[in-house]
Amino acid sequence: MKPSFYDLNYSDLETLVNQNNLNHSAASALFNWHYKKKENRPCVDKLSKAAMAFFNDHFDFSLPEIDTVHESSDRTVKFLFKLKDHHKVETVLIPFHNKYSICLSSQVGCAMNCSFCFTGKQGFTRNLTTSEIVGQFIQAWRWLAANRPGEERILNIVFMGQGEPLHNFDAVKKACEIFLSKHGTSVGIQKITISTAGYIPGLERWSEEIPGVNLALSLHSPFEEKRNELIPINKKYPLDQVLATIDKIPLNKKQFVTYEYILIKDFNDTAEDAEKLGALLVGKSAYINLIPFNAFPGSHYKSPALDKIEKFKGVLDTFKIPTLIRTAKGDDVLAACGQLNSKNAPNLP
Ligand code: SAH
Repeated sequence: MKPSFYDLNYSDLETLVNQNNLNHSAASALFNWHYKKKENRPCVDKLSKAAMAFFNDHFDFSLPEIDTVHESSDRTVKFLFKLKDHHKVETVLIPFHNKYSICLSSQVGCAMNCSFCFTGKQGFTRNLTTSEIVGQFIQAWRWLAANRPGEERILNIVFMGQGEPLHNFDAVKKACEIFLSKHGTSVGIQKITISTAGYIPGLERWSEEIPGVNLALSLHSPFEEKRNELIPINKKYPLDQVLATIDKIPLNKKQFVTYEYILIKDFNDTAEDAEKLGALLVGKSAYINLIPFNAFPGSHYKSPALDKIEKFKGVLDTFKIPTLIRTAKGDDVLAACGQLNSKNAPNLP
């Protein structure tokens, strides 16, 4: 099988062009064609005959296929992608004012096994390749261009779909390099966010390898015991060490770390939880996202009532930590946080 063109970052491509004595503009021509224009036919622009033949002969230009699409009443779009080995992953487009954030998957399933997450229930199958990550973006963009013309603007990229992105660091890093390349999609670094359950080996690589990319930590409880129950890898990488590792990552002036906190009824939603959370994060460049628990088939947790959620936020306000209550989008098609499961998802209309 030929290697995928979409596994190459710009410098890989330049190296190939030089090694094979192809015309110098070939790398920028190819990135422009496949990433800026997002064409899905072979590049015919500014490429010498030799370069055209070389890339067509040696590389595969296919992308993950869209298997199904579910459009929510709030215009959220959930894609199920079919990969070459027939495994499936999900990707979500989240609308805001006719523009979109894209929520990308980084693995087939997930090894973290978090107790509140539907993806965790399907177990871990394998890492996605860079081309399978980048492919989700391009295919979603093409779908928008075809189905919602004029709306093909994807402004934010968040790694909050299936999988633990830091557990697949190399492929995720290369996908970020491709998104950031000025020769292609040219996404601003401040527009990319990677969310982690607190996988320290990846956090330790952050400053050197993906500096400037935004970080979100799934925190969910300030108490180690409770966090162990929610996020089993907390036993290996405890929260205090995770936070200390994050504190060492330099931030730009206007940058902050997002701390995600799922509110689960009668589990982590009391004033005491909020006080401890506030005390833990006060003084940091922090932003808290409160996410009322999203139910999925077979889940036994529940979301607290709205007044309880607002009280929780009220406590955090006293610490002057900016806090947002994140309303669920796309939950009628199981596209909200933690509802992605490409193995056991029920059939939807
Ligand atoms: N593995 C990464 C990214 C995937 S999860 C991580 O743990 O951060 C993306 C976000 O959805 C995380 O904050 C996760 O905790 C949250 N999430 C998972 N299941 C959820 C559920 N049932 N309800 C609400 N949020 C959930």
